[in-house]
Amino acid sequence: MNTQAPAETPTKKAPHRVPNFCAGPATMPTAVLERAQEELLDWQGSGMSVMEISHRSKDYIAVAQKAETKLRSLMDIPDNYKVLFLQGGASLQFSAIPLNLLNGGRADYLTTGTWSVKAIKEAQRYEKLGLGDINLVATGKDNKFTDVPTQSDWNISDDAAYFHYCANETIHGLQIFEPPQVDATLIVDMSSCILSQPIDVSKFGMIYAGAQKNIGPAGLVIIIIREDLLGQASEWCPMLLNYEHQVEKESMSNTPATYSWYLAGLVFDWLEEQGGVAAIGKINQQKAALLYQTIDDSSFYNNPVALKHRSIMNVPFTLADSNLDKVFLEQSEKAGLFNLKGHRDVGGMRASIYNAVPLEWVQLLVNFMKDFEKQYG
Ligand code: PMP
Repeated sequence: MNTQAPAETPTKKAPHRVPNFCAGPATMPTAVLERAQEELLDWQGSGMSVMEISHRSKDYIAVAQKAETKLRSLMDIPDNYKVLFLQGGASLQFSAIPLNLLNGGRADYLTTGTWSVKAIKEAQRYEKLGLGDINLVATGKDNKFTDVPTQSDWNISDDAAYFHYCANETIHGLQIFEPPQVDATLIVDMSSCILSQPIDVSKFGMIYAGAQKNIGPAGLVIIIIREDLLGQASEWCPMLLNYEHQVEKESMSNTPATYSWYLAGLVFDWLEEQGGVAAIGKINQQKAALLYQTIDDSSFYNNPVALKHRSIMNVPFTLADSNLDKVFLEQSEKAGLFNLKGHRDVGGMRASIYNAVPLEWVQLLVNFMKDFEKQYG
């Protein structure tokens, strides 16, 4: 007879996770990381990690396809759009776009911050090579990228092959909520706002997004492209960047970023469990409203962005006295709030409040901000 007392079931200790407001790579949903951890060594009873199996295997293809199906459902992507899961982050798309879509013609670019400026600079390299003309429609540079230039002042081309813009400038905290009303096909960088609120995909020719904010690990980029835009790539376009080729190869022209793709699928599962994009969008609105209200109620904090373009994902703010920046960062870390330092182009602070940042973290942040103001304001 076994006289030993039954071993106590170990109680699972909650993981040490802290409020992380990093702009990217950004905080991931804890539930997703836990699931990845559970499956890390032995994926679905296979005795192997999902990162240890062939991208050509039936099992992995099922993972990849499921992620795409989930994304299609979350974003309500119409059937005449293809979805690609490629590598090189969003920045490589700054080259891929003109190489695929310029086709000897002209492209319009609107610049509203660091990322759209990088996009046009890269496109201009292909203009120099004679692949087409790149036209700067308007820039918000004169107002330090705190507002979008008025459309009546835009220098729009009559015949642009496409119109490129960035829907959310991660560094400047400037968001364009409604797609610009132009005739040209819209190509949009949604790296820092994809899946944050419902959008009508059919208004765009192509949407692209680096994964490291609302989707998963850095390095992966998601491209949603309307079929009629395929097949016009320049002969100089590297095959790996050629959208038509990658569509044919189902994003597997070479070995894709299999683990990142799998993690993206887990994030899509999680988002579905949260009620989908509309539901998370409501929480995102609440988070942003709470933070902007705190800033606006105080003369100590300031956000310079035009009201209708204030980002619901990245909230930069300055302190009345920039000498206090260092103290603010030290104290906020002591209070358990991390990665609030603003980008060097803008200075001050920035709180990135992507989908995986819960309302409670923003509540903790505004409480801290109020206390800090009382002490130092
Ligand atoms: N576009 C936007 C709006 C971004 O925020 C970023 C990265 N922060 C990029 C493009 C570049 O992404 P990656 O580093 O993945 O190339």
